[in-house]
Amino acid sequence: MADLKENLALLKAACDNPRARLDHYLSQGKKVVGCFAPYAPEELIHACGMIPMGLWGGRTELKLVKSYLPAFACPIMQSDMELGLRGAYEGLSAVIIPAICDTLRCMTQNWRFGVTSIPMIPIVYPQNRTSPASVDYLISEYETVLTMLYTITGNMMTEKALCAAIDIYNEHNKAMREFDQVANNHLDIVTPKVRHCVHKSAFFYEKSEHTAILKEIIEELKKLPAHNFTGKKVVLAGITCEPDDLLDIFEEYNMAVVADDLAQESRQYRTDTPEKGGGGLKRLALQWNNRYGCSLIHELGKPRGAMLTKMCQENGAQGVVSCMMKFCDPEEYDQPYYEADLRKAGIPYVTIDIDQQNTSYEQIRTRLQTFCEMI
Ligand code: SF4
Repeated sequence: MADLKENLALLKAACDNPRARLDHYLSQGKKVVGCFAPYAPEELIHACGMIPMGLWGGRTELKLVKSYLPAFACPIMQSDMELGLRGAYEGLSAVIIPAICDTLRCMTQNWRFGVTSIPMIPIVYPQNRTSPASVDYLISEYETVLTMLYTITGNMMTEKALCAAIDIYNEHNKAMREFDQVANNHLDIVTPKVRHCVHKSAFFYEKSEHTAILKEIIEELKKLPAHNFTGKKVVLAGITCEPDDLLDIFEEYNMAVVADDLAQESRQYRTDTPEKGGGGLKRLALQWNNRYGCSLIHELGKPRGAMLTKMCQENGAQGVVSCMMKFCDPEEYDQPYYEADLRKAGIPYVTIDIDQQNTSYEQIRTRLQTFCEMI
């Protein structure tokens, strides 16, 4: 059993060098499938005996991608495409692209023609989730994904393996939620950067391995006396809040992240797959229908504002930082609604621009400093 420091360092290393994680699994003779953000059916890949690995972009010079995507495509997809074109993902057996926003829809075609060495599997999730047909439709999408995975990799899934994978993912969700709770008593150790790294590293591990590390971290944290944090507590909303330079600014002004609504972080773990309700594929389809509070999923009544308000109240947060991914339409459409609800509830909020390629943070620094003094 590794100690707290060693485990946190392990997860940080995974975030700093996902390629090393890919090479690690390849060296074990495992097949790895890349999963485009935000929701790929990882359980299916896992159940086929392969490793799902998240593709969330990264810092790189955007050059080759300019022939494929316009400058106003979001930075995550720009860097994913650039890295794909440069061969950074060689070794992946396939990628799965959830065609869930306009940019991702374009990515399916760009990838197919630009990165011919890595086959692409698209999946389209239903948005009319109140129709019973949505479940049948999504099951048929999953079956298509499985057929393509089998054709490309030769790996096939069994119902037993799928049920086991669902259990592994549900257990991981539970551990992530527990980590978030326990972390709030140790905001001296679980700084915004550390919290982000624990969340993000899950994309680069087989999930039961990540759960095992998480459980050790949780146990070690529980043994320590609770820390009396005297700074400001905030909730993050958006797609991602990175890179680390940006999270450093939170630390600089003694701001802690006590909850989040980020697609890269808690949105991944807040909805379990139901334990009952049919076979594995049907239960996964029901999980999709149960997802909530996400800009990429159609929901009547726009409940995100109320959800963020509740998060602030439950975690003692003084405000919300809206992390607006550059040019992300789904988030931009949602923002006026949840901000209006936060205003009504008397919860302060501020918006910062997220761009993984950013190297200058002075505007964001000023905004966060002002926000911190205000709340
Ligand atoms: S949801 Fe936003 S961040 Fe994600 S791929 Fe679409 S435009 Fe990019």
